[in-house]
Amino acid sequence: MKLFTVGPVQMYPETLKIEGKQLPYFRTQEFGALMKDCEEWFLRSVYAPEGTGFAALTCSGTGAMDAAVANTLTQNDKALIINGGSFGKRFAEICELYKIPYDTYDIAFQEAFSQKAFQSYAKKSYTALLVNACDTSTGQKYDLDFLGAFCRENDLLFIVDAVSAYLADPINMEQQGIDVLFTASQKALSLSPGAALVALSKKAQLRAEQNASTYYFNFHSYLENQKRGQPPFTSAIGTMLALHQRLASISEKGVAEEIALHAQRAKYFREKVSALPLQIPDIPLSNCCTPILFPDKNATAVYDRLKENYEIFLTPSGGDWKDLQLRVGHMGNLTLEDFDILVDLLGKELQK
Ligand SMILES: *Cc1c(COP(=O)(O)O)cnc(C)c1O
Repeated sequence: MKLFTVGPVQMYPETLKIEGKQLPYFRTQEFGALMKDCEEWFLRSVYAPEGTGFAALTCSGTGAMDAAVANTLTQNDKALIINGGSFGKRFAEICELYKIPYDTYDIAFQEAFSQKAFQSYAKKSYTALLVNACDTSTGQKYDLDFLGAFCRENDLLFIVDAVSAYLADPINMEQQGIDVLFTASQKALSLSPGAALVALSKKAQLRAEQNASTYYFNFHSYLENQKRGQPPFTSAIGTMLALHQRLASISEKGVAEEIALHAQRAKYFREKVSALPLQIPDIPLSNCCTPILFPDKNATAVYDRLKENYEIFLTPSGGDWKDLQLRVGHMGNLTLEDFDILVDLLGKELQK
């Protein structure tokens, strides 16, 4: 079986070894020390400034999206949401639920974010900007340098869902002025699902202390407990042990190297696949995955055949794009040879 999916992804042997073992009890000094390492390495990997808070939540990535809104925004805020796919839409649904006033900047399928069009949202009454660094449903990558500068100029709290962008694309919390940043364990970290890592600026920490409207995901409580490396509730222990190994290894070689690895895979695959009668949308793409379009509307059929015949899994799309688009993940334990094999088989199946 080979996963070219966007989470869970193909896991590394080191991870499988750790995750396959009996879990230790976690209210111990040893586990606390391990979580303090994870805090240090994670914050370093996103260039977090001094004083940035860290929380390891027990949930999938959407839990962190929910927590980010519930901790930092109130009905007195007005959020601006970049809605260019199903994850942007999810932010809007979360704000809807908590009755946070919001507007969306909508981007149609296959359309690129327009800095010019976005300028019409400047100097308005917004208090926060919510964006998915990559909206994984389309693969579009948004320009965090541009958006960070926009937030600075307009005094907006900057909330960035980097669930799929973390380790795939460059992120710099300090330079980009990010207030809330999060990822999840099953994307480029290539671990089991069930944990989300959050970094919080001082501004976000203050807001969480005053505004949290969630019990389980209360950031303030997470930060207080993290002082001794403990979460307030049961940790995703096995995932944390594997996280420790993964972050240690990334920290040792440098995060730039890990990002370069994803960039190399993405470039390699995109060049190879261009020989096939498929299209890649002309939008800025994240290194985490490549969306491929099937002009003959046979994406579902090809997905099924790769799965049935070779146990190869691409990532299907939902709703209206089901027969038009598949996504090829570049995260996890994959080699360039894996992409050679994939493009060969894709070519074969397209001829059927
Ligand atoms: C995967 C992903 C999430 C989280 O999805 P879960 O299924 O809750 O883990 C959130 N945002 C983005 C951009 C993602 O790619």
